[in-house]
Amino acid sequence: MPLRFFQNATNQRARSHATALSAILCSFAATAIAQTESFKTLPLEDLSAFQRVAKNWQIVGAVEADLSDVRLMNSSPGQGILLCQPTRTKRDELFTRFEHADVELECEIMVPIKSNSGLYFQSRYEIQILDSWGADPVKHSDIGGIYHRWDKTRPQGEWGFEGHPPRVNAARAPGEWQQFKIKFRAPRFDAKGNKTENARFEEVRLNGKLLHESVELFGPTRSAALENEAAYGPLMIQGDHGPVALRNIRYRGMVRESNEKKVLIVTGQNNHHWPTSSVIVEQIFDKSPIFEADVLVSPSNGQNMTGFVPPFADYDLVCLDYNGDSWSRPAEKALESFVKNGGGLVVFHAADNSFPEWKAYNEMIGLGGWKGRNEKDGPYVYWKFDQFVHDYSAGKGGGHGRQVEFNVVTRAPEHPIMKGMPTDWRHARDELYRHLRGPAKNMEILASALQDESTGGSGRHEPVLMTINYGKGRVFHSVMGHVGAKYYDSIRCKGFIATLLRGAEWAATGDVTQRVPPGLPKSDSTAIDTNFKPRPEVLIIGDSISMGYTEYVAGLLNGEADVTRPKNANGGYLNCEGTTKGVAEIDDWLAAGDFDVITFNFGLHDLKRVHPETGRNSRDPNHPQQADLATYKANLETITDTLLGTGAALVFVSTTPFPEGVGGPLRNPEDVAKYNEVAFEIMNRKGIAVQDLHQYVRPRMEQLLPRKDVHFLPEGNRELGERVANSIRKAAAEAGW
Ligand code: ZN
Repeated sequence: MPLRFFQNATNQRARSHATALSAILCSFAATAIAQTESFKTLPLEDLSAFQRVAKNWQIVGAVEADLSDVRLMNSSPGQGILLCQPTRTKRDELFTRFEHADVELECEIMVPIKSNSGLYFQSRYEIQILDSWGADPVKHSDIGGIYHRWDKTRPQGEWGFEGHPPRVNAARAPGEWQQFKIKFRAPRFDAKGNKTENARFEEVRLNGKLLHESVELFGPTRSAALENEAAYGPLMIQGDHGPVALRNIRYRGMVRESNEKKVLIVTGQNNHHWPTSSVIVEQIFDKSPIFEADVLVSPSNGQNMTGFVPPFADYDLVCLDYNGDSWSRPAEKALESFVKNGGGLVVFHAADNSFPEWKAYNEMIGLGGWKGRNEKDGPYVYWKFDQFVHDYSAGKGGGHGRQVEFNVVTRAPEHPIMKGMPTDWRHARDELYRHLRGPAKNMEILASALQDESTGGSGRHEPVLMTINYGKGRVFHSVMGHVGAKYYDSIRCKGFIATLLRGAEWAATGDVTQRVPPGLPKSDSTAIDTNFKPRPEVLIIGDSISMGYTEYVAGLLNGEADVTRPKNANGGYLNCEGTTKGVAEIDDWLAAGDFDVITFNFGLHDLKRVHPETGRNSRDPNHPQQADLATYKANLETITDTLLGTGAALVFVSTTPFPEGVGGPLRNPEDVAKYNEVAFEIMNRKGIAVQDLHQYVRPRMEQLLPRKDVHFLPEGNRELGERVANSIRKAAAEAGW
């Protein structure tokens, strides 16, 4: 959803993502699959049929399993095939924008050797996808199996239960397309919402063979995204295990447009970096299968606020990322009646500094700090002798010590928000608010955290997560989430994200149906989800030519992208030189971040002459090149495969020309075109974009390269920087930024 602005809003880039789907959706009141209805085909020209898309998913034109290795799939650009290639950090599940009840689904899938995925009907009941070619006996965990359920409160050895192996092994070889035809029947509920009939797989066929018939499902299978059972849910395709491709996804039955809860994030004034926090929080909500968020930007600080009355009533949940000027009385009343009448409210971090004079707001948030808050506003609340105490002693409300990592300790383990969460987890570096005070009425504290006085903490367990009932509405308050322009791991902490989403669902509905996600922080280690970020991260890999234009690229993309290069031991920019060094060091370069766009150039070092024994630069024409054409090709194949494995958008920058007789090691100007030709063939074959600086510079050699040097003057570097920056913008836009 696009950002919406009020007057005088700052010039923040609007993000939008496609919502188009209505054309292919239909909904039926009937309780059985309408057999006469024809199948709809899920469009795979782009990813708009799916909820906000993680970068491990893409649309391609062709795929091929690489049978020389496990879990390896090659693809080429185009349309019509949905491809998942999980990486170390990009491994999200994919959810359709449609939700289904009874449904007939047909699709073709392809997996490479040993790869694993799954189709989760209603995001709850899994038909397994796995390379199971030749598996005997065939198990519930093989392709076509109904995956087992999982319950760790059962006796050891019986945690997995109610798995259903397919009747036969119908698997084809890895790398072959295989066809599923599945008839699913949703659970039934009475008017009070009690389940009256279990869900069932009526029929599951793989490659024409019948695998299951009328199998009853007593509950969601293992790793379901939604742990409750309900009439509808989106289809989920598992994306965290290995590559999988799908095509010709067709369905008919009871299908409706997504029923996600609508969230309004209000921001625009904050002593924290709200352009970053609001974008990341929006991403967090949008990626969840149960929420869809809009961001509303207020007038900026000091501007007229009278016209600013957010349309709260159009939403299920309001999330405040706001700490600024007072609102008009109509705006205040609109929020009060929204919550009083049952609306959900989420506040985090400095939102609890806001509005010290607004009585109802302080009742809604329970506790607040700063801006003159003191004993007149209510008690301090903290954990003492195994309970939370109210302390009415005089003193100011609010404060924090140094930013530190701290442990969040559950105090209400049976609350739906906390159920199943780790009871003690390490939060990413953040400010731990202390000495908050407020009305503290109808408030339950779910978790607390302790910071030593030595680092400026209070030395006692302070509330960090709380719920407040206000009228018919519910409020979730997290004190975590300090965000600066450069630092935002506080809101990318997987514990912060999980509690925010669970608290938001509880505030919006009174219940929590989402699973506790995998990979949460432990008591002694933090966990950050680096997929959430306000701007793309760009890595420039290359030789001294690229070092010359890096600062221009970074300047041109300032505010749009975070640009960096591989660094040397002193933290300075590294010259990546030729492909031989590239092959040796690329893993280290890539480990320094989670990059969305990577540009790379290699060639000038490969084609130069070096001493055969020492490897030092040489001017002897009888000495070998650092990497001859065949070596250059082989190295570049390795480097591009590694780069493709990151999931980043890639741009190859061609080797630039130079005049005859340049200083330094011996380089023949005629070699440049030969090396570029080899590179272009690889890039073309692998679908990698090319920025052809060679072609750009060639006709303007005299202006851009007036010296006997391969390097450019500042003016030339600026021109090259502009071209590379444009390629990065294009690649980022195509990747969905
Ligand atoms: Zn802060």
